[in-house]
Amino acid sequence: MKDPVHILVVDDEPDIREILMVFLERMGYAVEAASSGTQALERIEQQAYDVVITDLDLGDMSGMEVLAQVKQQQAASEVIMISGYGNVEHVSEAFGLGASAYIQKPITFAEVDVRMKEALANRRFAASVDQIVRQASGTDVDLGGHLEQVFHLYDLGRRLIATLDYQRVIDTVLSSLASLFRCECAYIFLVENGGAVLHVYSDLPMSEADLGAVRADALVFWQNLRKEEIAEGRVKISHRSRLNGDAPRPSGGDTRKMRAPLSVQEKVIGLLSVRNPTVRTASNLEYLPYIVGNLAALALDNASQHRHTRMLALTDGLTGLHNHRAFLDRLHQEFDRSRRYNSILAMIMLDIDDFKRVNDTYGHLQGDLVLKGVARILRNTSRESDVLCRYGGEEFVALLPETNASQALLKAERIRKEIASHPFQLNHCAVDVTVSLGVATWPNLGIQVPEDLIKHADQALYRSKSLGKNRASLEEQM
Ligand code: GH3
Ligand code: MG
Ligand code: MG
Repeated sequence: MKDPVHILVVDDEPDIREILMVFLERMGYAVEAASSGTQALERIEQQAYDVVITDLDLGDMSGMEVLAQVKQQQAASEVIMISGYGNVEHVSEAFGLGASAYIQKPITFAEVDVRMKEALANRRFAASVDQIVRQASGTDVDLGGHLEQVFHLYDLGRRLIATLDYQRVIDTVLSSLASLFRCECAYIFLVENGGAVLHVYSDLPMSEADLGAVRADALVFWQNLRKEEIAEGRVKISHRSRLNGDAPRPSGGDTRKMRAPLSVQEKVIGLLSVRNPTVRTASNLEYLPYIVGNLAALALDNASQHRHTRMLALTDGLTGLHNHRAFLDRLHQEFDRSRRYNSILAMIMLDIDDFKRVNDTYGHLQGDLVLKGVARILRNTSRESDVLCRYGGEEFVALLPETNASQALLKAERIRKEIASHPFQLNHCAVDVTVSLGVATWPNLGIQVPEDLIKHADQALYRSKSLGKNRASLEEQM
């Protein structure tokens, strides 16, 4: 009889732990459970598991720590992460640390079943690759090394196809470069924001000396690429830690670099670079960075198109502010966050006064200019953390984290004055435009769900209108 598959279920909620155990046992797996992160780490020290399924929030520690420890102690084990409030950062972080899947609660057995089968298939594939490479290396070291690289490229391709997340593509390529070349440090240079900045990503934290060298390298790369001088400020450097990574030691002596361009449809969008690679099979190495470069460029292009499409779907075309849908998402996020951290939140709702008359007098296109102008003033009077949205036709909303009622009312007054004193040029006439505003805040006894905040701001706005427009009002305090 074959050895059973060993699984460790880690969850501090007894019900979920129990349900998962019963289900997995019925599937024929040998299942153990841990009710805390500490207990999970003890188990992992004592025994190797084929698959570890862990909740993200374990009470005593994060499931990410369990994931990191499993990968450090038993790299071949697969880890499936479960989370109740998963967001993109968590997903990206989990995959960056080597998780094979991410399941969002509520859990369905069908999904657990599929994810388990995938994880086990990964594990079998990795084991047979290991065996083939070991056998080949026994007779021919070069062949063994070569096969290892081919399998690595296959695995990289597979992982890149599985994601459309831009940051995750970058993390995946960096960690792949690091293990493929066993280098001191891996870098990706990318021209981003339509060419406005050159972003440099590194797989390890960088020392001051490294930063200087990488910055100088980036400037040369940009100048060769664009044939133009750029200011240092347009080079942005960010680094992600490899698992337990320390800053690479200063190389001293010679630095060897292997590089390859990242190009999409014959346009160079960036560069891959690895510092002091130490892979032994040098004879067939030159082509490797180029293959990784091709895979990476394709995946980055797909991810950035996806990001762009998503951005368009969430942006108001006329003003560039969040649209209604994006706003509701952000409102729910901010509301959850302030509830979790016991912080405060304010909302300003704004409506242009007698806007119909502007349209009737000057035409719709000129009306559009007013909408754009109001959006610009809103942007200029806001902080980075404020969420600005075109709520409907000539209605706007600003969501202000960490802002109390009097601060929000002051801000609403400032916006009102700014708009009232700004002459809009419509058909060569200077036209005065005014707005009415309503302010609501959370926490407030009358507000249970995020939509209540909108209702309260709307009521305050209505009050401003009924008191004669061109004014800001605070909601009735409960
Ligand atoms: P009040 O002071 O009570 O808010 O009056 P108002 O005229 O601003 O309000 P009302 O709701 O009667 O009219 C809103 C107008 O906004 C009507 C609509 O044609 C116009 N509008 C909505 N969306 C757009 C747009 O995208 N562009 C332009 N130019 N006008 C728009
Ligand atoms: Mg209106
Ligand atoms: Mg109006």
